[in-house]
Amino acid sequence: MQTMRVKSILTEKPLVEKIKVSGWIRTTRDSKSFSFIELNDGSVITNLQIFIDKSNAELVKLIPDLTTGASIEAQGALKASPGGKQDVELHAERITILGKAPAEEYPLQKKRHSFEYLREIAHLRPRTNTFGAVTRVRNALSFAIHKFFQEREFLYIHTPIITASDCEGAGQMFQVTTLPLDNLPRENGNVDFSKDFFGKKTFLTVSGQLEGEIYACALGNIYTFGPTFRAEHSLTSRHLAEFWMIEPEMAFCDLKQNMDTAEEFLKYIIGYVLEHCAPDMEFFNKWIEAGRMETLQKIVASTFTRITYTEAIAELEKAKVDFEYPVKWGIDLQSEHEKYLTEQVFKNPVIISDYPKEIKAFYMKMNDDNKTVRAMDVLVPKIGEIIGGSEREADLEKLRARLHELKLDEKEYWWYLELRKYGTIPHSGFGLGFERLIQFVTGMQNIRDVIPFPRAYTSAEF
Ligand code: ATP
Ligand code: MN
Repeated sequence: MQTMRVKSILTEKPLVEKIKVSGWIRTTRDSKSFSFIELNDGSVITNLQIFIDKSNAELVKLIPDLTTGASIEAQGALKASPGGKQDVELHAERITILGKAPAEEYPLQKKRHSFEYLREIAHLRPRTNTFGAVTRVRNALSFAIHKFFQEREFLYIHTPIITASDCEGAGQMFQVTTLPLDNLPRENGNVDFSKDFFGKKTFLTVSGQLEGEIYACALGNIYTFGPTFRAEHSLTSRHLAEFWMIEPEMAFCDLKQNMDTAEEFLKYIIGYVLEHCAPDMEFFNKWIEAGRMETLQKIVASTFTRITYTEAIAELEKAKVDFEYPVKWGIDLQSEHEKYLTEQVFKNPVIISDYPKEIKAFYMKMNDDNKTVRAMDVLVPKIGEIIGGSEREADLEKLRARLHELKLDEKEYWWYLELRKYGTIPHSGFGLGFERLIQFVTGMQNIRDVIPFPRAYTSAEF
């Protein structure tokens, strides 16, 4: 007998005499002479209908325990279904109940539950349509990301999770320590971190970029894809304390080629999901956000608009809109500005380049104007910034000057500077927040609902 998953049964429709399938009951329907079970095993969003003929006394005995949430194994013949909703159904000959789910206690009832409630039962929410679909899309996107880079011979580099450097100089870091917090070793009144596990202060990484650059400056194109941590004291629908980031770093690559890669990459992975996750994407389109698939199809077919920061500011100054943050050359673009540009002005993804140096990180390549740097952000409708990147400063003296200007300690960056001292090369890269991407693809409103176990300010359940 063939053991099959629901996805294969529904696509292959093998009208054979005996099939075995296992899963969890989603719903049941009962009539005088028949009973129906909708079975889901996670392989696909669609359920398999199981038909029970009540003339079979053995099966009838089981019916009281065939309730929502129970796990079963069913055997029988696959037959064409007379009902309109499905092509095939399994005519049960034998059913084994693997685990009951007491109907009055099971937390997932037939009705639609709020996402807030489902976050409280993160151990059961993967059994809902929405979280099953999010999980399969997340998986497909991960695979597509690796596929894109592997096909182009980028090396996958594992950068450290514990680090002694603060990449962006941005703070917001989680400190890692084994020092006894109730009895800290002190030296002249200050905490003596030389007694800590690593002999110095250490943190969870906020980005793998600087380490990624080391490998790009030796082996050519590389990418990272790993967890990232930020102690963001914010309760927004776009920020997590633990999220995943993809950071390619390209050798012998300028800003233009960086933008080209970012555009090709986004279109490739979105196209992959549209092609390989059609049933899940149709579900999001119907239940989460109408028009999501059309927007994504348009993006895959589009050529991104490219403008400079200065041009973007000019567009915003022309706008007859009252922005919450007033527009002026030099401001950091807020998401209201970014959304206005992609949704109202260009109605297209937009890549903005050449930002004022004051609002960008120290490692970005200085333009000849000495005012702007070779940074680029990719903006998309609804989300705003989805990718941030730059060409890196490759000139040792310019980089040192920038560190001084920002009052950063040169000694902390000694190895980063040596990459410029010995055999420096033009190189560029960007970062994509994985959960922001999944939000964009699925239309899910809250970032906590696109990662299996969200960690955010004041919450780390499960
Ligand atoms: P934001 O302004 O939205 O906080 P950022 O400027 O801090 O973003 P970067 O430091 O450029 O973001 O990080 C690179 C990418 O990582 C961002 O484009 C975004 O997709 C993602 N990202 C940043 N912070 C978070 C977070 N707290 N949770 C989830 N994703 C994040
Ligand atoms: Mn941030």
